[in-house]
Amino acid sequence: MTERIREFLRDRRSRGVDEGPVLVVDLDVVKDNYNTFSKALPDTRVFYAVKANPSPEVLALLASLGSCFDTASVQEIEMALTAGATPDRISFGNTIKKERDVARAYALGIRLFAVDCQAEVDKVARAAPGSKVFCRILCDGAGAEWPLSRKFGCEPVMAVDVLEHAFKAGLEPYGISFHVGSQQRNQHAWDRALAQAAAVFKECGERGMNLSMVNLGGGFPTKYLKNVPTVKTYGNAIFKALRKHFGNRIPETIIEPGRGMVGNAGVIESEVVLVSKKSEEDDVRWVYLDIGKFGGLAETMDESIRYAIKTPRDGDALAPCVLAGPTCDSADVLYEKQPYPLPVSLEIGDLVLIEGTGAYTSTYSAVAFNGFPPLKTYHI
Ligand SMILES: *Cc1c(COP(=O)(O)O)cnc(C)c1O
Repeated sequence: MTERIREFLRDRRSRGVDEGPVLVVDLDVVKDNYNTFSKALPDTRVFYAVKANPSPEVLALLASLGSCFDTASVQEIEMALTAGATPDRISFGNTIKKERDVARAYALGIRLFAVDCQAEVDKVARAAPGSKVFCRILCDGAGAEWPLSRKFGCEPVMAVDVLEHAFKAGLEPYGISFHVGSQQRNQHAWDRALAQAAAVFKECGERGMNLSMVNLGGGFPTKYLKNVPTVKTYGNAIFKALRKHFGNRIPETIIEPGRGMVGNAGVIESEVVLVSKKSEEDDVRWVYLDIGKFGGLAETMDESIRYAIKTPRDGDALAPCVLAGPTCDSADVLYEKQPYPLPVSLEIGDLVLIEGTGAYTSTYSAVAFNGFPPLKTYHI
């Protein structure tokens, strides 16, 4: 929560405009985050993961600072281009692409593609001939609050075959990527993945392919309720792991921060719609906000991401609440398994602040479920 956001919200309230929940993102914080990443890993290029917050303001700011962009669709590529990035600063990092989208990306000038199997290599070879490809390897996501499962990547042994297949198809086998899981609170999570990446480099070398690049992915956390290590701490741990596994032949590296770039830059203001109980004896109150899973807080799925919530009555006695959204879907409950402590004095009409919501909120918001409009956003 910055003074600029506080002032913006104060002004908005005093003018009585704009009903409904609102996300406010402070671009100065995004700028600080970009500079912090650049300093923590000075020899590493930053490819901002566009999906975390694709607003034109964020993209234009990062483009002006020199950032590159990790994109997952033709639309995201076009947004990055519109923001001022040149095609050589954009990767098509999704391992799941339609061949005609690969062709469109190629026509837009994109020459760097992610793959994790031979069928995807075939598409890239046909639709984007001669391009660079990097192969994503599996990562178990241990230590991450939002792990990425087995959906993306292949076993390291298979990565060697995938890259050789690319080589034979006329593509440039460029490197390896992985993602250690989002909101990764353990800075040592990169160590094992880098050991595997180094093994793939070695095996590829023996087959006559000299890989150049390791894509270290995202995973850098935002502070929610628990403290997280600093970006500098991550930078040091990653550099140490690179030295350990690659010796004095450290490859070109890139990072793809999403959450870590924009998460702490945003705050959502929401209104308490109802406070109730299910019976007189119930000691857990239900607190319903005007935002829930379908309004942008989808990352509360399985209660994975636990946001810090500030109320105008902080300091009063606390009691556990079930926290829920306003829609008529029973899945629209934020925290129930682990109830959320909120002031007993909290009342209908109170405005609460949900902090650390600059990433993975605005675009997760439904178009008009139950008629609720998508989350309003301001980038200041
Ligand atoms: C989503 C994503 C990222 C960003 O991850 P964060 O944990 O938000 O930093 C980076 N790379 C790829 C390929 C992604 O899909």
